Amino acid sequence: MKMLINGERRDSVSGRIFPVHNPATGDVVGEAPLGGEDDVVSAIEAAGEAFPDWAAKSPRDRAKVLFLAAGEVRRRNTDLAALLTAEQGKPIREAVDEINGFANILEYYHGISAVPRGEFANLKGYGRTTVWRRPLGICGAIIPWNMPAIIMGWKIGAALAAGNTVVLKPARTAPLTCMRLAEILGEAGLPPGVLNVVTGPGETVGREIARNPAIRKVSFTGEVETGRQVALDAAPALKRLTLELGGSDPMIVCDDADIGKAVEGVIRGRFYNCGQVCTAVKRLYVDESIADEFVRRLTARVEEIVVGNGMDRGVGMGPLNNRAGLERVVDVVDAARERDEGEIVAGGRVPEGEQYKRGFFFLPTLVAGVSHDSVLFSEEVFGPVLPIAAVSGLDEALELANNSRYGLGASVWTRSADVIARATEELDAGIVWVNQHLRIPPEVPFGGTKASGIGRENGSRALDEYSEEKAVLVRL
Ligand code: NAD
Repeated sequence: MKMLINGERRDSVSGRIFPVHNPATGDVVGEAPLGGEDDVVSAIEAAGEAFPDWAAKSPRDRAKVLFLAAGEVRRRNTDLAALLTAEQGKPIREAVDEINGFANILEYYHGISAVPRGEFANLKGYGRTTVWRRPLGICGAIIPWNMPAIIMGWKIGAALAAGNTVVLKPARTAPLTCMRLAEILGEAGLPPGVLNVVTGPGETVGREIARNPAIRKVSFTGEVETGRQVALDAAPALKRLTLELGGSDPMIVCDDADIGKAVEGVIRGRFYNCGQVCTAVKRLYVDESIADEFVRRLTARVEEIVVGNGMDRGVGMGPLNNRAGLERVVDVVDAARERDEGEIVAGGRVPEGEQYKRGFFFLPTLVAGVSHDSVLFSEEVFGPVLPIAAVSGLDEALELANNSRYGLGASVWTRSADVIARATEELDAGIVWVNQHLRIPPEVPFGGTKASGIGRENGSRALDEYSEEKAVLVRL
């Protein structure tokens, strides 16, 4: 496939390409241009030229394009989902969900962005005062490989609806679906240059997006350390920043919880997308009075998960997306095993069998009785590994849950109104779920506290994050 710059499908300036592999089989599923700084500069030029006309359109006209694109994405869901599974590895039904999720976001911003915004007041002594909202200009979007379609939607939905133009960089190991989605937006009527996609390495393409002063805002999703680098690179030009970084979400299961539902909550919360979700359940705290039964039922359920190629029927969990990710998971589990930091009650290794030899597979893994100082609790493990600890009650659970450098999501599982009131108040996270985990509708703001990031995406106020105010005071 080609990059999309100024509405044209282009090779990189260097003419080099890179292959994209299927993480289940190792087969090449496509290729993308190996872009560099020059390509970002071309994309910025195109975005700069496109900006005045796009910004001048009525919000309703901009929103219409998003709506038409969403419909087209839904119509082509089967092909898009197959492409997403081929490059990313997730089971096909999760890919279908993700493509629909992308369409949901565009439709949401279509729905809300035509509502006139701004304020008006007749301030005594100052005259008629209006506060307008104007788009920022060219915005940069840098995204990871775990949920490329959804995260692309989070980045472009509000940005485009608010009248900005965008230069987007997908991740090296999952760029193809993003490229196809950008083409569909163009076919739906998005003018050339309004959305440009530059593929290539973070060190060149990503850094140029972060640094180039023509870009007025950068929205980045990825690891904490990369986010810090993006912030440093963006600082000289005083850009606006949204950083959606790592997470280590706690899930608290209280003694009165519906155990069956909580077990299913863990299965989805931890093993969806092979555990590679920023808001996956990454730490499980279970009340000691039910811990043994909970771990027994959870282990039985985990053992039922069929691991395999995401395109195969009945597969519940695919491979990790890339070799580096698999190696990190293997290392962290081996280290926990060597240091005797808990008991591996399920998985804990690469699966055996011919069908797994060429992919990045790891078994869904549970580690029970994990000590609180284990790296399994302190660091984000981006794969299908869940550390579990029994806790003496809500006080201890909340203290441990908040004892993390991350603050993305958190959940509590209970039937008690008092527990819900306390946990929703005290959990230090950007999103708190009760008797559910993981799901993020476009209607609510999404982002984290502490090292999980700066700023929010989604929700109506994302339109504010992609615009700036201008106060106009008129005396007649
Ligand atoms: P990553 O930080 O390695 O890469 C993210 C993107 O940044 C990629 O496109 C990469 O090429 C680019 N990049 C790399 N170096 C760069 C640099 N110096 N300057 C600019 N761009 C650069 O992250 P990843 O491994 O792709 O993704 C996994 C991480 O993302 C996990 O930590 C996960 O929790 C986090 N994540 C967060 C959210 C959220 O919304 N908070 C959502 C999904 C994933």
